[in-house]
Amino acid sequence: MMHCSGLMVIVILVAYTLASPLPKPMPFPEISTLSFLQKSIVDYDRNAQLNLKQADPEVSPGMWEGDIAGLSFDTYYTWRLGLRFEVFPERRWKNATVPYHISHKYSSIDRETIQTALYTIGLMTCIDFVPYDGDSEDYLLIWPVEEPAGCWSFIGRTGGQQVLSLQPPDSQGPKCLGGPGKAIHETLHALGIFHEQSRADRDDYVTLNRENVIKPFLHNFAKQSLVNTTYDFEYDYASIMHYGTHFFSAGKDKPTLVPKRRDARIGQRDGLSRTDCYKVNKLYGCFERSPYEKLKYESFCDILGL
Ligand SMILES: [Zn+2]
Repeated sequence: MMHCSGLMVIVILVAYTLASPLPKPMPFPEISTLSFLQKSIVDYDRNAQLNLKQADPEVSPGMWEGDIAGLSFDTYYTWRLGLRFEVFPERRWKNATVPYHISHKYSSIDRETIQTALYTIGLMTCIDFVPYDGDSEDYLLIWPVEEPAGCWSFIGRTGGQQVLSLQPPDSQGPKCLGGPGKAIHETLHALGIFHEQSRADRDDYVTLNRENVIKPFLHNFAKQSLVNTTYDFEYDYASIMHYGTHFFSAGKDKPTLVPKRRDARIGQRDGLSRTDCYKVNKLYGCFERSPYEKLKYESFCDILGL
C-alpha cells in the first residue's frame, strides 16, 4: 500500500511539472501609496526604529507581529488556525486561485526564488497560483516595498491589488530571499494563516521570556482568546509560521521564546511543515474536492512536509 501511494505521488509530481511551465513576467506600473498600513516602523521612536532596522527582515517592518499589515481588530479576535472563512468569507481567495505578479524590480535569481515558493505551495496544496492577466479583479503583487522594507503581508485576500513585500538581498545579507522559505511564510499569511505562537494554548509548548523582549514590541507576543478559537491541529513547533527563538529579542543571549520540549526547534524557514500543509489544504477545502485529491494532497503533505 505504501509503495503504491509513493509511486502515485511521483507520477502526479511529474504530470504537474509538465503541465505547469513557469509563467512569463508582465510589465507593471509602479506602486505609489502605502496608506493601507495601519502601523509600521515609522510609528515607533528613533531607538525602536534603529533596533528594528537591524533585526530579522520579518521583524523589521514593525507591523503587527512584525510582518502583518493592515489587520483590523475584528479579524484579530475571530481567527483559529487561520482566518475563519465562515466569518470572513471575503478573505478567502475565490476557487482557491491566486493571480500574482512579481515585480520587474527583482533580479532573475530572486524571481526564481519567489517562483519556487509559489510552486512549492501549489504543489502541496490545491491552491492555484496563476500569472496575473491584467483582467482579474484580485491579485497578489509581490513587490520590494522600500518603506517599510522587510518581509510582510496582509492576512487573507484583501480585494483588488494586494501587496506582499519581499526585500531583496543587499550588502547586509540575504534579507527575504536567501531561499524560498520567507516567501512561503508571507504567502501563507496572504492565504489566511497566522503565526503559530499566537495560539491560546502556546504557553503549554513555549516559554515567553518577557524580560528579553524589547519593550515596545511585547504586544507582538499576544495570545488569542479561546472564546473564538478552535484548533484542528496539534501545536506545531515545526511550522514555517512559528517565530524563532530570538524574534524581538534585546540581545543575542536573550531568547524571547524557548520551546518546552527539549528537542524541539522553532522558527524554521525551509518549507511547509506537514501540519502547515494540512492546514492550508483544510482551509481551502482541498480534501473535500474528491477522494483522489484527498489522497493526493495528504500524500504530498506526508512525504514533502517537514
Ligand atoms: Zn509572519
